[in-house]
Amino acid sequence: MEQDRLKFIAWPGHLYNLIVDLPVVKLTRVLPIFSIIFFGFVSMDWQQIDLSNEFTPGTSPPDKYDASFHIVISDDEILTIDGVYPWRPLDQDEWRWLGLEMIESHYLGSIGNTPLFVVEVDPEADEPEGYEFATLWSFLDQVDQQIFYLVGRAKQVVEWHRNHHHCGQCGKVTMTSTFDRSRKCQECNLMFYPRLSPSIIVCVNRGEEILLAKNAHARGNFYSTLAGFVEPGESIEETVHREVLEEVGVKVKNLKYFGSQSWPFPNSLMLGFHAEYESGEIVVQEEEIADAQWFHYTNLPSRPAMVSISGWLINDFIKKAEKNQTQIQG
Ligand SMILES: [Zn+2]
Repeated sequence: MEQDRLKFIAWPGHLYNLIVDLPVVKLTRVLPIFSIIFFGFVSMDWQQIDLSNEFTPGTSPPDKYDASFHIVISDDEILTIDGVYPWRPLDQDEWRWLGLEMIESHYLGSIGNTPLFVVEVDPEADEPEGYEFATLWSFLDQVDQQIFYLVGRAKQVVEWHRNHHHCGQCGKVTMTSTFDRSRKCQECNLMFYPRLSPSIIVCVNRGEEILLAKNAHARGNFYSTLAGFVEPGESIEETVHREVLEEVGVKVKNLKYFGSQSWPFPNSLMLGFHAEYESGEIVVQEEEIADAQWFHYTNLPSRPAMVSISGWLINDFIKKAEKNQTQIQG
């Protein structure tokens, strides 16, 4: 009996399934306890919650709430529940029962009407039984893109807070703002917002070919689109022209904005473009690029997975090239 009860408490999202699956005899036996637990947890039916689409960002938690969600981070790793796939945050009872010591908690916004917090715990904390800490990298190809962004947001907020306890100008203690995501120095009033580093990523094409490069410092033997950080005083478009020229000695034209991706390793924002080749021969910047070549879209080398904007850009080019080919043949 006690075991059944624990199972129900630990798995609120599966209550409905358990009701359906339990044999009638057993159901009668557990029903009194079960119904109490069921009504206590009714708002935590995870199967009914669309984590990907129901998140609304915010910086001030509501004054009162009955339920809450918690993303737990220790030493830059995110707590996952064994056997729960896809990943989800903890509900407030799960968080309390963990018994982990909280260093800091930050409100991130709400999922539906339920407030969501990221909780930073001791970096030396042991993994509680039934849970595991996982790197953000490991989330990349395991969860929906929106959930990856949500967890990335949580990790970046924790990093921002940890790195700005003290003012970078005068060294005095900073305080968290009550109305936005900032910290302010009590002495010299300097403000600190979470740092983002915009960077461009560009798929350069020449007819049916694209220019891909192998990074001199990247792990793994694959070719990718060119990328680089925006410099102070530059427009995004200027960055594209400069980076391509610097890295492979080629001039481009007709930039077309494709889309963006939050890339929290540690705090980039990737802005993706297609660009057409204009002039020049490939001359690689050796400190950055090990090799760069034109590749026909039907004969591409190993390249980034579809979890990154580089993969999306290349795939988008292939689709367009295939469509053109069909039209020519048709
Ligand atoms: Zn200061």
